[in-house]
Amino acid sequence: SAIKVTLSDLEKYTNKSFPLCMKFLYDTLKENHHLKYGSRIQLGNFFKTIGLTLEESLELWKTEFTRKITETTFEKKYTYFLKHMYGTVGSKRPYQPATCYNIINVVLSAEETHGCPFKTWDSLHMTRKLQQCRIPSCGIDDIEDVINNMQYEKACAKHFQFIHKQTNPPEINSPFDYFKESLMVLK
Ligand code: SF4
Repeated sequence: SAIKVTLSDLEKYTNKSFPLCMKFLYDTLKENHHLKYGSRIQLGNFFKTIGLTLEESLELWKTEFTRKITETTFEKKYTYFLKHMYGTVGSKRPYQPATCYNIINVVLSAEETHGCPFKTWDSLHMTRKLQQCRIPSCGIDDIEDVINNMQYEKACAKHFQFIHKQTNPPEINSPFDYFKESLMVLK
């Protein structure tokens, strides 16, 4: 794709252009300076998809993780997954961008927080988060109806529609679709 985000301008996209699944994980990373394995894969692959190089990804994860652990521990325990993802070690096959289908159907063990929030969050938590995004209450009702019908991508597309003040929801089949559509609206 033509989209190429660099580490230095990443922050300007996180609030409006990240879908909820990625915004939540990135906020959690910045808050806890740690993410569990499944979350690292989900968020790490998204950063790769929007254009961060391996070096930029290593830098980003190192900055967060080394606020809690040493650089040596980071190097030893937390760099392999990134190198594997970019295809420089192991099977040497760079990961493909994840689809919403992949993320929605991921099997979560206890205490794991990745996956698709439209599926995993309970309705009270979802309502609170949508309010924080300043989505009007009619919009929240609308989104929750769609969630109750288990149409998670459609709920995500409506979330996009309200955040970006569009007349119609876009077609969302991957987190990257959300990101791309957002850049198109905001440019
Ligand atoms: Fe992420 Fe897709 Fe779920 Fe939206 S529908 S939050 S892009 S997994």
